[in-house]
Order: sequence, then structure tokens, then C-alpha cells
Amino acid sequence: MATNKPHVICVPIPYQGHINPMFKLAKLLHSRGVYITMVVTEFNVARLASSSTVESPFLEGFNDFSIEVIPDGLPPDNKRSVFNLHELCYSFRGIQGEPQMAIRSLLMRLLESPDIPPVTSVISDAMMTFVPQVCIELGIPVFHLYTTSACGMLGYMQFDELVKRGDFPLKDESCLTNGYLDTSIEWVPGLIKEARMKHLPTFLRTTDPNEIIFNYLAEATRNAKVTAGLILNTFDDLEGQILKEIEKVIANIYTIGPLTKLSQPVNERKLLPLSWSLWKEDNSYLEWLDKRSPKSVIYVNFGSIAVLTPEQLKEFAWGLANSKHPFLWVIRSDLVIGESNIITEDCYMEEIKDRGLILSWCLQEKVLQHPSVAVFLTHCGWNSTLESIGEGVPMICWPFFAEQQMNGLYACKEWRVGVEMEEGSVQRKEVEGLVRDVMESEKGKELKGKAMEWKKKAEEATRPGGSSYNNFDKLVRNLVGKGNHC
Ligand code: UDP
Repeated sequence: MATNKPHVICVPIPYQGHINPMFKLAKLLHSRGVYITMVVTEFNVARLASSSTVESPFLEGFNDFSIEVIPDGLPPDNKRSVFNLHELCYSFRGIQGEPQMAIRSLLMRLLESPDIPPVTSVISDAMMTFVPQVCIELGIPVFHLYTTSACGMLGYMQFDELVKRGDFPLKDESCLTNGYLDTSIEWVPGLIKEARMKHLPTFLRTTDPNEIIFNYLAEATRNAKVTAGLILNTFDDLEGQILKEIEKVIANIYTIGPLTKLSQPVNERKLLPLSWSLWKEDNSYLEWLDKRSPKSVIYVNFGSIAVLTPEQLKEFAWGLANSKHPFLWVIRSDLVIGESNIITEDCYMEEIKDRGLILSWCLQEKVLQHPSVAVFLTHCGWNSTLESIGEGVPMICWPFFAEQQMNGLYACKEWRVGVEMEEGSVQRKEVEGLVRDVMESEKGKELKGKAMEWKKKAEEATRPGGSSYNNFDKLVRNLVGKGNHC
């Protein structure tokens, strides 16, 4: 039976780093009385069900929160890993492709259904380029959730300019090694002076003018300029300077981060699951953390999509072991390319047996909140970076790809909460040295002090009266139309 609740449809792109902020936003809206439909891909719905800590099926019994499923257009045996991103872009860009047809018929069905509240608006991940197109065609207001940092987004906003300036595509492969990537980019207004070409999203590093991911993201970012509202998981104090630049081009920006902090009061009410993980949580870690001294543990996690060569894994492994500090390391089943894996070797396990815990997945929010955690060795995915800032945990930054290089730069040079590792090759001596620096030196104390300052600012932004809290109020009003009961 339909109610008079507002109804918002949320469509994340099917990766963990995009599902998490969209799910948090959906939970927040749900807590304000909005009926939610989350759209999930067929491939992920099975993974969510099997990894969920919630009673099966994974959302049964929760009121006014429904799930709809669409295909992603890829064959079932496609791994959907970082190496398949271009295939997903092809599938999503296809006019009248399977995903686009599926979302059209889903939205039409929901618009006509007498059994659910009438559809009020859609929140589309900015990277789901086919969704806004269909919404506009059907006359449904569409808001964009752009899940990167504002500094990362400003990088993507330069893609058209890079083409105009003749900086994209690269002239030849030697540009990757001849210092070209160290060229200053002071022509991008708003960025800090240390920003270089290598900090812009890594998809520009190609000699192919038709590179699908570059062109797909250029289009997605262009589209996000024409939106009923652009939602960003950041906060004004953190990225004010950059936001001013984005606001010159895009009106109606809602900065509502850190979403992890804004959604904490909702989590406490336990109306919906804490998270939606695609991997099953390995639950031995909280007990292990409880037994460690305060601020003694290095937490190592490279997110949901980054990969390591066996050589990089080995260098990280020995760097951590040689530092002699305790560490908790999440090694996803698909983190390492190929077979060889140091952590299965007896001599290594013997070396770390009293101080290293290796897991396949954890609930990162819980780990970062734990008092034993001292520092986060991270790939600088935006969620991870902001979750760490929100909990006052300093970082060792090893950016992997996309806009992570920009996040790492800002974390180290602007927010001063991190130390930077060169991207790419990993040396055990460097890992050991950085861990010791952060754990044992004055530098570490400074980073910790700064991280605690940002934590306080993140808390202020997300509590009643704070910038993100107020922006979320405004977003709710505009999403559901003024005068509604929300
Ligand atoms: N995450 C988690 N447990 C893990 C690894 C990651 O809960 O073991 C979550 C993390 O908290 C974050 C998301 O997965 O919200 C990863 O997003 P991020 O933007 O940091 O990186 P990506 O995976 O997109 O590269």
C-alpha cells in the first residue's frame, strides 16, 4: 500500500567505494522518513547476500527500504576487477545497452506502481552516466553523488582542458618516465602549489586519444555540471578553497561529509545494517585489537580495488615486520596479482606471530575507531582518507590510481596528517623507516596532533548546526520538494 512518504531512488556504481557512501546517504534519508529504493547490480546482489552479517535475505524485515536489481551488462565470468574497468565503461556507455534499458523499465515501473510511494527524485552516482540521461527523459529530478574528494573532482574537471592544451593524450610513452609527470599544473586554479601533472587522475597517462576510461570520466564529470544538485562527501573546513572553484561552474553543491560521522547517530539506532560489504568480514580482529596497548597498531588496508604485485606485497610485508611494531593487515583474496604470496611462508609467519594479524576483510569504520590503532597505511581511496581524518588517525600514503594521488598530496601537504610514499615500487627499508618515523619521532606526534584537530572539525561539521549537518537538511528539503513532512 502506497504511503505519502517521499521516495528517493539511489543508484550507486557497483564498487565498494561507491556503494558505501551511497548506502550511508540512503540510511540518513531513511532516518528522515524517506522511502528508499536502492538499485544494485545482479552480480553484487549475490555477493551482498553471501557476505552480509544481517539475517538472510540481507534486508528482509526493514521497513520502507527496498532493493531493485539491474544487470551491469558484463558476462557472469567477468571478474569486475580493476583490470575490467574499461569493459564496464563500454557497457554503461552503450546507447540502448542492457543496463540503460533495464534502468528505464525499472524507473517506469516504479513511477507507475500503486504499491509504493510516488517517486520524488533519483540520486545517481555521477559515474553511472546512463542513469541521469534516462531520468531527464522521464522527467524525474536527478541529483549526482560524486564520491571523490573535491580536490579529486577538480582534477577530473580538467580532462577537457587537458585535451585543449594538447596535454592529452601523452605524446609518447617516454612521458611516463622523463619527468613530464612532474610538470607543475599552476594553470589549474585553486590547487596547492605542490600539485603536479602526476597528481591529476592517472587515467590521463596514455598515448591513446580514445582511451575509454578517460573519455567516460570526462563525460561523467561534464554531466555532473547539469544537475539538480551535486552531493559531495567532504566538508567545508577541509576543502573550502577547492569548493569555491567548483562552485564557479556548478550550482547547488551539498557538502555533507564525512558521511561516516553524519550517519553515526543513525547506526546507533540499528534500523539498518551498519554496512554493505561485498566481502565477508573476518571477525577476529576486534578482540585482537582489544589486547593491544593504546595507539600501538599499524592498520594496513589498500581498499577494495587496488592490487599489488607479489614483489610489492613482499616489500610491504618485510617492511612491516622489520619495524617491530604490531600491525593489522587486510589482504583481500584478490589483492595480489598471481600466485606467489609471502604471507603463506612459514618463516614470515614465525617472524610476525606475536604482533601481526592478517585478515581478508574487516569493517574499517570499527578498526579506525579503535583506541589501539595508531596509524593507517592506505592507498588513499577517498572513503579511507576521509574515514581516517574523521577518526583522527594519521596516514602513511601509498596512492594506487585514479584521484588517489591528489588525495595523498592533500593529506600530506595541505592537511598535514600524512607522510607520502612514492607510488609504484615499494622498498622494505622505506616502509620500515616511515612506520618508525610515525610511531617513534616528533614528526609522528605532529601528525597525530593535526589529525586530532581535523577529527574535531569533522565532528563540528556533522553535529547539529555544523556545515554538513545544515547542508544535509537543505538537501533533504530539495530532494523531497519543499513543504513535505520530512
Ligand atoms: N572497506 C572496509 N573493509 C575493508 C576494506 C575497505 O570496510 O577491509 C571499506 C572502507 O571503509 C571504505 C571502502 O571500503 O569505505 C573503500 O573505499 P575507498 O574509497 O577507500 O577505496 P576503494 O576501495 O574505492 O579503492
